[in-house]
Amino acid sequence: MLLAALVTACGCTQNGPLVRELFAMDTYMRFSVYGLTDGEAADEAADAVVRLSGLLDAVDSRSEVYALDHGVGLPVPVSPETFDVIEGALGLSNRLGSAFELTVRPVLTAWGFTEGEHRIPSDAELAALIENVDDGRVGLDAERNTVTLPEGMQIDLGAVAKGYAADEAARILREGGAKAALLDLGSSTILAFGSKPDGTKWKIAVKDPENADGVAGIIETDGGAVSTSGGYERYFTGPDGQVYWHIIDPRTGRPAKTGILSVTVLTDDAMTGDALSTALFVMGPQAAEEYYRENGGIDYIMLMEDGSIVMTAGAEGVFTPYGSRAGAKVSVVGSGADG
Ligand code: ADP
Ligand code: MG
Repeated sequence: MLLAALVTACGCTQNGPLVRELFAMDTYMRFSVYGLTDGEAADEAADAVVRLSGLLDAVDSRSEVYALDHGVGLPVPVSPETFDVIEGALGLSNRLGSAFELTVRPVLTAWGFTEGEHRIPSDAELAALIENVDDGRVGLDAERNTVTLPEGMQIDLGAVAKGYAADEAARILREGGAKAALLDLGSSTILAFGSKPDGTKWKIAVKDPENADGVAGIIETDGGAVSTSGGYERYFTGPDGQVYWHIIDPRTGRPAKTGILSVTVLTDDAMTGDALSTALFVMGPQAAEEYYRENGGIDYIMLMEDGSIVMTAGAEGVFTPYGSRAGAKVSVVGSGADG
């Protein structure tokens, strides 16, 4: 029968994953979940991500982050989820220093990366804007669930929202009985947990930053988060022929140019990985290496402008360069003396 043939052909066997596709946070996401007896937890996980997207989208005038960004210096009440995301993100920001600032949003807007037209702001304009970039000045009141931004300041959760959403989806799926899952939140944030029924490792592609459809390598892992930040995700070419992208160095107000085209970070939780991929991109290879030696707890793969690859010893064991990066020069960053 034709129908039966189609069912087999699409791979929807009893052992195959339950798949949910959704559009949230400006990207197509795909959840492949194993071990559920019905779709309830998968629906719940997808709904949670859509809800977070609605709360955290700084461009959407109905979102809580929009309300906060337009709070004119007053405390703005937010939902427990939004408070939790901001509190977690500020904790990461505190650890990551000046490379990572949620309050960089007005600078992103000046470059036309949040809305409006792309443009190159003047030095004076950037100098004035970075005066107001300082996550240390964001006020949190956990009793009232309010967040306060000094007037003129705005936050953007673009660097962490997908990571938070991935962790939340994984928690809901696990609680709902899922044994394993691959959560792809638009390829720049991926979270895998549990073992695939066929016993093989999770395979995650790292995009070729110089060719949107290409793959620069494959990660084979038993689980965890894989987060990538790359200049190729959003950029424009100025009248001066230079490329300007959406990852900003808060110290200069300019796109971070350190010789890195993309950074992929391997961590346990996706929110930390998301923040780290953005922060390491801004830090550049040297400061990133220092961060890694001092803190550990992560592995990373940097695809460099000169065609080479810089990665940690732990990443070397799971990452296989591919395509245009096959045979690339590899520098391995060792861990600190304390291992
Ligand atoms: P994407 O998944 O869009 O590639 P990234 O993890 O690379 O996301 O983060 C880029 C986003 O992070 C930007 O769109 C912006 O919202 C925000 N951002 C840019 N620069 C910084 C920074 N230095 N610190 C914190 N957030 C930043
Ligand atoms: Mg990030």
